[in-house]
Amino acid sequence: MNGGNFPGIRTKHHVSHEWERATALRRLHQGNLRREDVCDADFLLRAAARHHGVDSPRPCPVCQAPARVTLWIFGDALGRRAGSARPPQEVAQIARELAATAGAAAQEFTVHAVEVCPTCRWNHLLETATVY
Ligand SMILES: [Zn+2]
Repeated sequence: MNGGNFPGIRTKHHVSHEWERATALRRLHQGNLRREDVCDADFLLRAAARHHGVDSPRPCPVCQAPARVTLWIFGDALGRRAGSARPPQEVAQIARELAATAGAAAQEFTVHAVEVCPTCRWNHLLETATVY
């Protein structure tokens, strides 16, 4: 179990994307990126953040409004659930279901934590991990 972006979900192989996030914000503040280049969350991302995301412990780095963190899941083991956004407790539930029905290797899938600001539409990948 681990907290952070994947509360209550058994994860491994964490890859942080904080460096890329900081780089994008620095380029924005330096004027090397336009705000519309980084604040471009589409309807799907914003709807998923509203319905399946959780409140981020950090405010939006662009406009300081409350931000959301949404989990997106990917992998063949998920079937039609692949590529969908899910609340953390549902990701944990899917992991338990797969562990009960699939073989050890077939049950793993990938989870992406994406930060989205519903106010200014800032969005960035925070972290990826393997759920097992
Ligand atoms: Zn914002």
